[in-house]
Amino acid sequence: MESERYNRVLAVIQGKVPDRVPWALWGHFPACEWLKGYSWEKSVRDGEESAKAHMALLRELDYNMDMLKVTPYYRFMAIQWGSKFEFINNEEDAPTKEVAVKKTDDWEKLWVLSPRKELREFVRSCEILSHDLRRVPFIYTIPSPIIQAMNGISTPDQVLKDMKENPDALKHGLETITQTAIDFSKACVDAGAAGIFFGIGGGGRIWRELNEKQLEEYDVYYDKKVLDAVKCPIKLMHICSTSLGNPQEIFDKGWFKKYSVNALNWDSHSWTPIKKGKQIYGDNYCICGGLDHARLLRRGTPEQIDQAVKQTIEECKEGGGFMIGPGCTVFQDMPISNFNAVGKAVWKYGEYKK
Ligand SMILES: [Zn+2]
Repeated sequence: MESERYNRVLAVIQGKVPDRVPWALWGHFPACEWLKGYSWEKSVRDGEESAKAHMALLRELDYNMDMLKVTPYYRFMAIQWGSKFEFINNEEDAPTKEVAVKKTDDWEKLWVLSPRKELREFVRSCEILSHDLRRVPFIYTIPSPIIQAMNGISTPDQVLKDMKENPDALKHGLETITQTAIDFSKACVDAGAAGIFFGIGGGGRIWRELNEKQLEEYDVYYDKKVLDAVKCPIKLMHICSTSLGNPQEIFDKGWFKKYSVNALNWDSHSWTPIKKGKQIYGDNYCICGGLDHARLLRRGTPEQIDQAVKQTIEECKEGGGFMIGPGCTVFQDMPISNFNAVGKAVWKYGEYKK
């Protein structure tokens, strides 16, 4: 892809200084409240619905985003294995009704999903975006195998229990999920995605309940398989956290340098601040983030956003390798005025002097 926006993003991904700090915000766009006419539920069974909602959001903004992160319902693989979730009134949180893996023996029943069959619609979404967007690089969301296992394919309790009592059965399941993630990621890249957004830690409990050895054995080992198998220019890793847990302690000692990605994103407002994160990881990775998705972007005023973007850019701009983004998926009720406020402020403060 040859485009100004792609070159800008690629520059920071490679740790270089671009012409201007790039920016991107991501969320469950088919569920976005001001973007009427799209269905969150439909987007999990119709790739065109997802693609159209993402493109519509880009079109509505006053300022061009430099990259699009495509965010499907993150349990999209679990659904194919038989888990059931309840979509109500286009609310982005679709609670779990039933999981595919209810007991240890059920890990055996998972099979490798095909990008040409069960996951076809998600690949089709990439094909449509690739054809219609042309100048905007987009990346597709791939949740870490252990996180998928805990939150959707099965439950945190079942996974933690099997870790203790039936590790081989759990590992068998993780291998299947991992191979599915590999095949699917490759298909997205073949369909035109510039890369993947690899999400680890979702749900937060993993950071509280697993020690470093367990993280290596059940998380990193499988994540690495996916990341090593997929060749693409952008590998942005999101280190998710919730009130149930965050990995600040290991993050601050550089533990995540073991990951073969080229950009890091985390909720820098609830644990390690972005400036400190750039000091620790800036030589190894592009740093992406800086905006508080929960309070500022959702409830803040455009003036507050202007100041927050200014401050983040001042803290992280030097030397390049930095991109403005949210700490996690923005809420579906984030107002359009706040999207535009981010874009406007990036234009105002993000330029690098020649
Ligand atoms: Zn997150």
